[in-house]
Amino acid sequence: MPEYSELNGKVAIVTGGASGIGQACVHAFVSQGASVVIADRDEAAGKATLRGLPPGSAAVFQLTDVCDADSVASMVRAAHDNFGGLDIAHNNAGVEAAGRAIADMTDDDWKRVIDVNLTGVWQCMRAEIPALLARGGGSIVNTASALGQVALPFQASYVASKHGVIGLTKAAALEYSALGIRINAICPGVVRTAMIEEVAATDSGFMDKMYSMHALGRIAEVNEIAESVLWLASSASGFVTGSALVVDGGYSAA
Ligand code: NAD
Repeated sequence: MPEYSELNGKVAIVTGGASGIGQACVHAFVSQGASVVIADRDEAAGKATLRGLPPGSAAVFQLTDVCDADSVASMVRAAHDNFGGLDIAHNNAGVEAAGRAIADMTDDDWKRVIDVNLTGVWQCMRAEIPALLARGGGSIVNTASALGQVALPFQASYVASKHGVIGLTKAAALEYSALGIRINAICPGVVRTAMIEEVAATDSGFMDKMYSMHALGRIAEVNEIAESVLWLASSASGFVTGSALVVDGGYSAA
């Protein structure tokens, strides 16, 4: 993991920090000496993530539902109350789509995914931006997806939500970059997480199919996404705002 010395002492929120990409980002921020609020709606996994950090890490778990304004306000307050403010927000919590054709989708298939993946990111930024401005600026990284760049059938709500995250990120960057907040999205290809391993355990051809969709012939490890998030959070990316950083092994180049 590269070192970004200026992240030492910074305060970060990571939503969806109890699992997968978010959990790897929590570890990455802590490894740089940042203080972290692990924000997730899964209390057991959040507390387990906290226990799994190296001794002496400056981190707290905050039970958070990114769809709920009061809960999101409490998340930002947790950064202030525990660590004195907020410098970095990684809005990463997300859910999968049900895998149905558009005409077969239920209201819930649409709303559940849009609410968490898109409205949740807006809800978080609305609460985080005043806290970042109070510190004179900062960095926001929103997790989109390669499916924010290209589409896949039977994933309409997910594809729409992630295209939406990229548009929302660009609009936010235009509003707040001059005030000192850089705002970017990250677009991972398929990443090796527990969910991917579970599907692979029941479907022998699944991994090969996933590998073949990426020009690099493999999927990403969570650390590879976390490294890019650290870069976007740090001043090493100081002239980058309003971008959608593609970290997808060539998935969306096809
Ligand atoms: P994951 O399921 O391992 O982690 C997601 C976390 O978000 C979970 O801990 C979950 O409890 C939390 N969460 C879900 N809804 C929430 C809510 N309403 N409020 C608070 N927390 C909530 O998933 P992951 O694979 O690590 O995905 C993280 C992000 O990366 C998501 O936005 C996902 O769409 C995106 N992404 C993942 C992949 C991949 O292949 N894994 C690829 C591209 C993009």
